[in-house]
Amino acid sequence: MPLEIITVPCLKDNYAYLVHDAASGRTALVDAPEAGPIAAELARRGWRLSDILITHHHGDHIDGVEALRASSGARVIGAAADAHRLPPLDLELHDGDEIGICGETAHVLDVSGHTVGHVAFHFPASGAAFTADSLMALGCGRVFEGTMAQMWHSLSRLAALPPETRIFSGHEYTLANANFAVTIEPENAALISRKKAVEQDRAADRPTVPSLLSEELATNPFLRASRPEVKDAMGMRDARDSEVFAEIRRRKDRF
Ligand code: ZN
Ligand code: FE
Repeated sequence: MPLEIITVPCLKDNYAYLVHDAASGRTALVDAPEAGPIAAELARRGWRLSDILITHHHGDHIDGVEALRASSGARVIGAAADAHRLPPLDLELHDGDEIGICGETAHVLDVSGHTVGHVAFHFPASGAAFTADSLMALGCGRVFEGTMAQMWHSLSRLAALPPETRIFSGHEYTLANANFAVTIEPENAALISRKKAVEQDRAADRPTVPSLLSEELATNPFLRASRPEVKDAMGMRDARDSEVFAEIRRRKDRF
């Protein structure tokens, strides 16, 4: 049976995720922006945390870790590369690791770029990937610590997951991302219809996350930097994929 995944809105526009295995009763958390809403959701469902998975060191992803660890005794899991700036880790991860979480195998991918040491968690059996501030719905995180080439490489690895994978990212930024995406590909019909759907969802206060990787491949400009039609639209026909990605990212930073 696939894992049950519950979206928990936190802070202003963050998402945390509870991953629950009904068979074993185990529950994992992906990122802890703040403890309050997560503890409330756990109490409402009668679940107790067994694992806390951390994607990267930013406060809006870890500030709730210690309170939730204290109330649950959960094992805290994050990248070895970030161990010096994360809450104390019970398990340190490296790229390519496979870990048992909630009765499934989760694959660990280094997706550095937004930060160096950012990891994503892919649960192939449940068709879910937790990408936080790497790949986002119609967007990607700002490149703060890594290089543009590194972020492009990270996104390319996520793009190679099965297209039916659901992408659980860290923020509700999709409407702003859609408004930017149409400046890159104004003629992309799939993007135009997705933008309408996003506008309707947000007007009704519905989350736009998760999205399907197949939708991202068809509409997310940051994943599409290698496509001839995108290069043409940007006047960069002969540029390398990573250079086109970098230019899209720079334009978004100024948008
Ligand atoms: Zn971040
Ligand atoms: Fe964030």
